[in-house]
Amino acid sequence: MINDEILAAFESEAIEPGVQLDGLGNTLSFVQTTPAAEIGPSVTADVWRGHWIGGHRVDSASRIPVTSPIGGEDLGDIASGSAEEVDAAVAAARSAFPAWAALGPQGRREHLRAFADAIARHGEKLAQVETLDNGTLLAAMRNRFVPRAKHNIEFFADRAVDLNRTPIVSGEVSHHTRYQPAGVAALITPWNAPLMLTTWKLGPALAAGNTVVIKPPELAPLSCSLLAEIAAEAGIPDGVINVVQGYGREAGAALVEHPDIDRLSFTGSVPTGRVAARAAERMVPVSLELGGKSPLIVFEDADIDLAVADLTHQYHNAGQVCLAGTRVIVHEAIADVFLERAAQATAELRVGDPRQPSTQVGPLISDQQARRVAGFVERALDDGAELLWGSPERNGLYMMPMLLASVRQDMEVVQEEIFGPVLTFQTFADEAEAVALANGTRFALAAGVYTTDAQRAWRVSDAIVSGLVWVNGYGARHLATPFGGTKSSGLGREGGDWSFDFFCDVKNVSITADTFGGTR
Ligand code: NAD
Repeated sequence: MINDEILAAFESEAIEPGVQLDGLGNTLSFVQTTPAAEIGPSVTADVWRGHWIGGHRVDSASRIPVTSPIGGEDLGDIASGSAEEVDAAVAAARSAFPAWAALGPQGRREHLRAFADAIARHGEKLAQVETLDNGTLLAAMRNRFVPRAKHNIEFFADRAVDLNRTPIVSGEVSHHTRYQPAGVAALITPWNAPLMLTTWKLGPALAAGNTVVIKPPELAPLSCSLLAEIAAEAGIPDGVINVVQGYGREAGAALVEHPDIDRLSFTGSVPTGRVAARAAERMVPVSLELGGKSPLIVFEDADIDLAVADLTHQYHNAGQVCLAGTRVIVHEAIADVFLERAAQATAELRVGDPRQPSTQVGPLISDQQARRVAGFVERALDDGAELLWGSPERNGLYMMPMLLASVRQDMEVVQEEIFGPVLTFQTFADEAEAVALANGTRFALAAGVYTTDAQRAWRVSDAIVSGLVWVNGYGARHLATPFGGTKSSGLGREGGDWSFDFFCDVKNVSITADTFGGTR
């Protein structure tokens, strides 16, 4: 268990930058959460806090306070949208739809390429705003999420140009697959990566010829607001992108229930996903990207250094990542050596201010979330689990990386998504047991498999029920590949042509050649 003196230091406001915290005989560097003066709330001062409807700023009297998780700084407030504002946004999107659809994929590509370039031009601002808003590491925003946001737009803009497939000719009849714009797409995203996740939906939705209404997360709403104005600056026509800020239960629910949306793409938690799924009762196609509880399976022949490095990555963003591999499942023959190395590597992780380049684990999003995480750990400890490192104690919204051992498969901490810096540790005796443990939750988003045996890698990858499996590495993505979960982790796939299957009306046109004088 972590020693009390260290914990007291961790909880103390007076902690010095770079102090080494010695827990379990290991060290943990803590970078103080002193506000970095040059990247403070003033960075967000000029970000529009209302809705963006039909190319105009629209305000609401009703407001939602926004605070930064970094140190509780006040970031002002945002508009709290109502059903009327959602209605206005859907109407604006509907009226912009025919002209945007008529541009065709080439015409839209020009607009979207300009939009992607504008994202890059404003990249530093987007990075700083989102870091302040949700506590993502600034380095990750700069190096991963902003470049990915740009790529999300340009990749799908390029890909849409070649969508219609080669006709299938059968006798005198040729069969043509046509990808046509669906209409108005509703996009709802969570707070843990709003810029990346919104552009991941926006790219294919717009490239396919749809117009959109975005409902950003109320806990981190600012980067989406900025994104809409960046799009306008880049020349995206009025009404093509609309943003309604507000609470999920109000603005989000009104969007889900709106009778004039043609698609609903939702990313968030399983309970809210069930609410979003109600749009399907009206025959609105729904795509659901939901939570995860992904396993990291390490076989006895694995490259342990690689697996340990990947384990430490699961704590990034304080574990608030849908894909996080939070269930570490290791062959019993290497459990001791694996744990020893993992403890060392975890102890070197630096928890602190996400604006500091040296920080690796930032804050949790809110007090409610930090309490929720601590609750999971405390209940697990009461139920017989053992903390190998870390503690449920916290310094404001900052928590130390935690690893829970002596857990049973039926324990809440193994079964439920915690969305915090908490991993569980289990061992297995053989491949069948590893697969059974991996598949033994209601989630099925991703998995990591570590082995040097190629046959085993394929066998286990095939046996694991999940949307994604990474072998000897974790988290690599290519935008042309399918993304999504099965079981409770979601419905449908986005990515590559799967995004267009969702965001388009796919139609088959069969032409009998003779009727055109022999031409097809
Ligand atoms: P959440 O479900 O609470 O909220 C997601 C979005 O839905 C927010 O914009 C929210 O305002 C809105 N919303 C809430 N209630 C609504 C309602 N009744 N009707 C319509 N919209 C409503 O999720 P969260 O806490 O913001 O995000 C964390 C969850 O998201 C985790 O479960 C995580 O795993 C998941 N997630 C999944 C992926 C993925 O790609 N599979 C990616 C990131 C996050």
